Formats: sequence, structure tokens, C-alpha cells
Amino acid sequence: MKKTAQEAYLALQDAIQASENPPACSTPGLDYLFFPEPLNPTGIGRYSERNRDDMKLHEMQAKALCSLCPLKMLCADYALAGKEEHGIWGGTTPNERKEIWGLKKAKSQYLF
Ligand code: SF4
Repeated sequence: MKKTAQEAYLALQDAIQASENPPACSTPGLDYLFFPEPLNPTGIGRYSERNRDDMKLHEMQAKALCSLCPLKMLCADYALAGKEEHGIWGGTTPNERKEIWGLKKAKSQYLF
């Protein structure tokens, strides 16, 4: 049965608390990798059109860290169920999640 956003969030939070090591995304100073969108409301990791390449690089670095994370599936579950529109969650970008939700034409391949 499909989890609700709240169930998926609680499952992720339980797994984070039970985990021996905190996930890479909670490392102080690395949030700019996980929230690399141009309109990041925190102001961290803002990118102009000119440095979109930096944004792509940071996305790739975050996804590489997610690929090593034991919480990846729970994290992606929550991001999809919770309709997270911002940030890298479970190795997926906002655009990739929109493709999965059917809001954008698919051009990505997912390696869950
Ligand atoms: S999979 Fe989720 S919890 Fe793990 S590093 Fe990536 S964003 Fe953080």
C-alpha cells in the first residue's frame, strides 16, 4: 500500500534517528549542495543564469552523496509522497520528481 506523506516522513525521521551516522545532507555547510535551486529561499546556493553549470555540479555532488546513503529509498519515498518541490531528496532533483509525478515530460532515467 502506498504511504501517505506523513507516514513516509515519519518513517524517514525514525530511520534517521536509528541511524549510527547522520546523513550527508545534515552536515553543516553542505546544504548548498542539497538545495541548489536558483530561487532557494534561504539565499544559500543562489545561482544566476550565468552559473547554472555550478548548480548542475552541486546537484551531481549531492546525488553522489545520496547514492551512498542507506536512507535513500525512504528519503525518495517521502519526497515523492510529500510532493517536495525543492532540493535533492533521495538522489532525485525537483525536475526529476516532477517527471515522476507526470508534471513534466520525462527525460531522466532513475537509478533507485
Ligand atoms: S538520501 Fe536523503 S537523507 Fe540521504 S543524503 Fe540524500 S537527501 Fe540526505
